[in-house]
Amino acid sequence: MTASQVPPTSRTKLRRKSDRGRYDRETIDGILDEALVCHVGFAVERRPWVIPTAFARVGEHVYLHGAVGNFALRTLAGGAEACLTVTLVDGLVLARSAFHHSMNYRSVLLFGHAAAVTDDDEKRAALLAIVEHMVAGRSRSTRPPTAQELRSTLVLRLPIEEASAKVRTGGPIDELADYELPHWAGVVPLSLVQGEPQRDLASAPPGG
Ligand SMILES: Cc1cc2nc3c(=O)[nH]c(=O)nc-3n(C[C@H](O)[C@H](O)[C@H](O)COP(=O)(O)OP(=O)(O)OC[C@H]3O[C@@H](n4cnc5c(N)ncnc54)[C@H](O)[C@@H]3O)c2cc1C
Repeated sequence: MTASQVPPTSRTKLRRKSDRGRYDRETIDGILDEALVCHVGFAVERRPWVIPTAFARVGEHVYLHGAVGNFALRTLAGGAEACLTVTLVDGLVLARSAFHHSMNYRSVLLFGHAAAVTDDDEKRAALLAIVEHMVAGRSRSTRPPTAQELRSTLVLRLPIEEASAKVRTGGPIDELADYELPHWAGVVPLSLVQGEPQRDLASAPPGG
């Protein structure tokens, strides 16, 4: 195991289709950096919660942010373990049989305990990283957070220590007998495409 790998644990070791598992940080970080949204799961009194939210990776950590009253973030800051996932769907895999339909994807699952960031410099850097994660370079052309905005924002830091990635590529895998069927089979590639930016023409109300 090299330094750029996260060692699989009993929880993160893929049992199903283990050949699709990846534990190298290059793959894990690449998926985290490309995905815009993560889903954070946690349990409260034996009840599961899964919340979609923005995030950013900075080095060895994933940062989450929200209002100081945010239930999910407060629960995680209070010690609940997080299970964070991100998913990139790269294609629809259409097989000759209904059974073998699939998707091409890259996904990451990360277990860990998050800590609230209390240092203002780290907090500011994390918030700007979340903006950068949306549009690279954007943090240089935007007003940085004020002290009040920093105080009203809870930022969490989650270490990338217990993680796995899973990657499916390629075409459908049909039963041998089904290759003779007349049904169309193949991959429909999918990607997230940025549209034409639409300028906000709003201005501050006079005297406002
Ligand atoms: C877009 C998409 C669509 C999918 N559709 C289906 C579907 O319809 N049916 C289906 O059965 N499976 C689907 N999968 C795969 C699914 O995520 C699981 O990998 C699979 O169901 C095996 O589950 P398991 O509980 O047996 O995993 P196990 O192999 O037992 O999981 C053990 C550990 O492996 C790691 N792991 C497992 N899956 C993933 C993953 N996807 N990404 C990162 N780490 C992982 C985790 O650390 C997990 O704790 C899909 C995945 C994606 C991303």
